[in-house]
Amino acid sequence: MMLAKLFVVMCVFWSGWVQAAEYAAVSVPMVPIKVGKHSYYVQGMAGAASSENQGYMSNAGFVVTKDSVLVFDTLGTPSLAAELVKQIRKITPLPIKRVIISHFHADHYYGLQVFKELGAESWAHKNGQGAVDSDAAAERLAQRRETLFPWVDENTRLLPADKWLDGDTDFEMGGLHFQLRFVGPAHSAEDMAMLVKEDGVLYTGDLVFRGRVPFVGDADSKAWLADLQKLVALKPRVMVAGHGAASVKPQADLKFTRDYLTFLRKTMGQAVADLVPFDEAYAHTDWSKYAKLPAFEQANRPNAYNTYLLMEKESLAQ
Ligand SMILES: [Zn+2]
Repeated sequence: MMLAKLFVVMCVFWSGWVQAAEYAAVSVPMVPIKVGKHSYYVQGMAGAASSENQGYMSNAGFVVTKDSVLVFDTLGTPSLAAELVKQIRKITPLPIKRVIISHFHADHYYGLQVFKELGAESWAHKNGQGAVDSDAAAERLAQRRETLFPWVDENTRLLPADKWLDGDTDFEMGGLHFQLRFVGPAHSAEDMAMLVKEDGVLYTGDLVFRGRVPFVGDADSKAWLADLQKLVALKPRVMVAGHGAASVKPQADLKFTRDYLTFLRKTMGQAVADLVPFDEAYAHTDWSKYAKLPAFEQANRPNAYNTYLLMEKESLAQ
């Protein structure tokens, strides 16, 4: 009798323990897409993070070297990261050794704890230091625990990188050569892109937008343009952005974002120089090249307005 009781207690204890080490499963389909001999990515769904897409609305990449695996970004929940590990395991049993975080936005690093548990070392740009301890990060976590429960819950932890990089960093891993490029402050303060040299595959994080009017927000478009030039110079064959499908014509896509920012700066800069008020300048600008693209209605006018203010600031600083 005593033994049976003990057995039951042990079982409850054991199942509880196993539960704690697991993550709520996701039902969204995740399929690795091969974009180079060693390079893969998984593509999140369109739209904002919601219970429908279970937070799967951003991309993550992974590279299988001779002796190990490198992961680029860790998706928006530990559950999604655990699913990514499962998918990687279908391709290779090699250890996941290193994780690169492109920037500390919830949809790109909430899965980090899963890779840490597997013994991976995480790297990010030093401008991201303190990002996980900020009030904004705590607020975002509380919000995600509501909207993305049970995939983000009380066991979800925001982890910093193990190693903070000072800038551009080249390294070799399992016979492959990686070039990490600091391309911030642009979309965030700490944006990092990564080229897998042998494959010509460039993972850009959220620095590049494809087939839609970019979201400029209050970004510094001058710095952003310089960063895009840096990516063009890497001459990638394939480009995997932080959202959406991979691009097989990266030069054209990089140029698209670059041309758009240049156009905004030129037209709004001229209006500022001529002392033309914003509304008038906006109405008289020929937007036909961009007017038919997705997100034009929502993004173009705010983008132009922010650029107008930025050009005013730049002209005063001269
Ligand atoms: Zn982002």
